Amino acid sequence: MKKFLAVFSGIATVLTVLASLSQGHGPFDNGDGKFLSYTLAQTIARTPKNLNSSTAPKADDQAKPAKTTAQATTNKTTNGTTNAPAKSDARVTVLGYHDFSSTKDATEMLISTAKFRRQMQAIKDLGLNVISLEDFTAWKRGEKTIGDRSVLITIDDGWKSIYTDAFPILKELGFPFTIFLYTNYINGGSNALTTEMIKEMQKHGCSIGSHSISHPYPAAVKSERAKGEAAFKAYLQKEMGQSRKSLQKQFGGDILCYAYPGGFVTGEMLPIAAEQGYECLFTVLPGKTTRSTSNFTIPRYIILGTHDYIFRNATSFKATKTSAATLGAIIQTTPHPVIPEPGSIISTRLPSISVDLSKVENIDADSVVMRVAGFGKVPVQYDPARKIAQWKVSRRLRSRTCEVSVQWRSMGETEYNKPMTWIFLVNREAAYQLK
Ligand SMILES: [Zn+2]
Repeated sequence: MKKFLAVFSGIATVLTVLASLSQGHGPFDNGDGKFLSYTLAQTIARTPKNLNSSTAPKADDQAKPAKTTAQATTNKTTNGTTNAPAKSDARVTVLGYHDFSSTKDATEMLISTAKFRRQMQAIKDLGLNVISLEDFTAWKRGEKTIGDRSVLITIDDGWKSIYTDAFPILKELGFPFTIFLYTNYINGGSNALTTEMIKEMQKHGCSIGSHSISHPYPAAVKSERAKGEAAFKAYLQKEMGQSRKSLQKQFGGDILCYAYPGGFVTGEMLPIAAEQGYECLFTVLPGKTTRSTSNFTIPRYIILGTHDYIFRNATSFKATKTSAATLGAIIQTTPHPVIPEPGSIISTRLPSISVDLSKVENIDADSVVMRVAGFGKVPVQYDPARKIAQWKVSRRLRSRTCEVSVQWRSMGETEYNKPMTWIFLVNREAAYQLK
């Protein structure tokens, strides 16, 4: 996973550049500064030293009153764009994906196709407006309005799984999306997209952006930079400019957007990007995009296949004057079946919480421990015949989210397993009506 390394070895430099760029504009101006630091620090195992996650808010603090699925459905818009320019509080979450698989184990850069489907469905259920790259650039220019809570779906590099796994889901849901291609990888072997696949996807909502010619890693960029100003400029003109021309020639249209390979951006790239005809350039730093966000450093939530909270943060929106807050979607998976399911919304405040441990071998029946937020350790009942651990909530749940953790030990062991945790949601309004 060389690309994974490239993404994160670039971060320190990205931060430096962004910090210098954001004096006037930039992702750090939109009030999400702490949030960016938090998500980034949590995202990266090798946390840069200048990030302080301890001051950061939790996702819960980002959005207060949650919209339930039912509520969100009532004000859902199907299009999300109009041609009448108007003042707006629109914010865009740009999602960044890479590779997909229904058979391989998830990694940071590879998400399970099933989870991707659930994420896309969650976007639909939350009533977020999925916009095309063309809508995005027109909105940034002030030529078009978009829904207050919009999403731009982007997928980098050009893996074949975009066509085999992601595309059918996006097409089914009618979601436009963008692929950032590095031209050397098109038709680049059995795992790469072919020209034909790309052209077919273009007929069904797929826009194209550039991701350079060779996808240089930061070390490669740095060694080019060491050759002097003129040589570095020529190098950037080639990577940025020729990739644009080549994509335009192969796929038509105007290529106006660029995703920095590995998110690695240096100050020299910005004037060259403008000179080469780019309008919007995307990083790998999470945050919401507003009209005032710098077009040269547009944030993206890179959705890592192994870190579920990033999608939750990405789909959380704070309230504005014109738009209610949205609590992000929790798309979690647990190793054993649980009820209520992770991320599900229940309409009772006195649910039964249960875990099916029938796949666990050699479990010590007396060792099962359940903890529920607001209750601490609860008197869970474990049925050794069915291998089900269950507890009925004993007083009404007060919070909109409820976190549960379950632990157990194998027979003869002294150590407990790592706790299995999940979160479900309580639709308090519906629960009041039902009581
Ligand atoms: Zn890439």
